[in-house]
Amino acid sequence: MDPVHDLHLHSTASDGSLSPAALVRAAHGQGVTALALTDHDTTAGLAEAADAARELGIRFIPGVELSASWERKTLHVVGLNIAPNTPVLREGLARHAAERARRAQLIARRLASAGLPGLLEQARTYGAGMVTRAHFARALCDLGHVKTPADAFRRYLGRGKPAHVSGRWAGLAEAVGWIRAAGGVAVLAHPLRYKLTRSWLQRLLLAFKAAGGGALEIVGGNSTPQEIRTLTGHALRQGLAGSVGSDYHGPEMAWSRPGRLLPLPAAVTPVWALW
Ligand code: AMP
Ligand code: MN
Ligand code: MN
Ligand code: MN
Repeated sequence: MDPVHDLHLHSTASDGSLSPAALVRAAHGQGVTALALTDHDTTAGLAEAADAARELGIRFIPGVELSASWERKTLHVVGLNIAPNTPVLREGLARHAAERARRAQLIARRLASAGLPGLLEQARTYGAGMVTRAHFARALCDLGHVKTPADAFRRYLGRGKPAHVSGRWAGLAEAVGWIRAAGGVAVLAHPLRYKLTRSWLQRLLLAFKAAGGGALEIVGGNSTPQEIRTLTGHALRQGLAGSVGSDYHGPEMAWSRPGRLLPLPAAVTPVWALW
């Protein structure tokens, strides 16, 4: 049997709600036999996940999801099959950790100015890992200020809203460079989520390829067959491989499950052929 891949998953090391070991067990329970943990700007969960995968006899690919800036937009670049202790990557992640701490303080200050104090303290109760906007969204829910995390983004945390703070992330080429320095493959995550026109997306893919990017995430948890066809065309034109990943964050997102993914079209080189 071919392995069942899911190469984009989150744990409590960033904004997922399962611990790395519990996440690996959940993915295994859904039939996944090769998985990557890709927490936002941190590799802190990889060792625990690798141990859990070894116990279950499934393939583990060390990963990370880097935030990156390009043309004043924030993009996500997944690094797969990375060596997490590489100095260049570690230094980059330390920089992003400091930036996340700075940004979290500012977000909390903006929320306090809007009459909502104590959100950073609440956000920190969800784990010792990286604080993301998803933590603030959950905190806003738990303190009864909004009904759902999506509402928190609509009212406070999204672009143009009162508590939105742009992150000062590494540039796209720099982020790709950290992944390559660590021996990994750089994958442009969820390419259709950036609300780019077709010509902007083509510009992005050219820049990504020129920077050393290796693959496009072609199949995501909610991908439609039409979206998969569109991205397959882009990957073939740019000479990029294809990746698959659910972007699962935990069981409270009832619509998403690890491993529940449409197949990667046979025309594209699967990213796992590169390792
Ligand atoms: P950050 O990297 O700190 O900007 O946080 C981004 C994270 O927030 C994403 O990885 C998602 O997990 C989550 N997120 C972003 N937008 C939304 C939304 N509209 N509704 C729910 N969660 C979201
Ligand atoms: Mn997230
Ligand atoms: Mn992402
Ligand atoms: Mn993600």
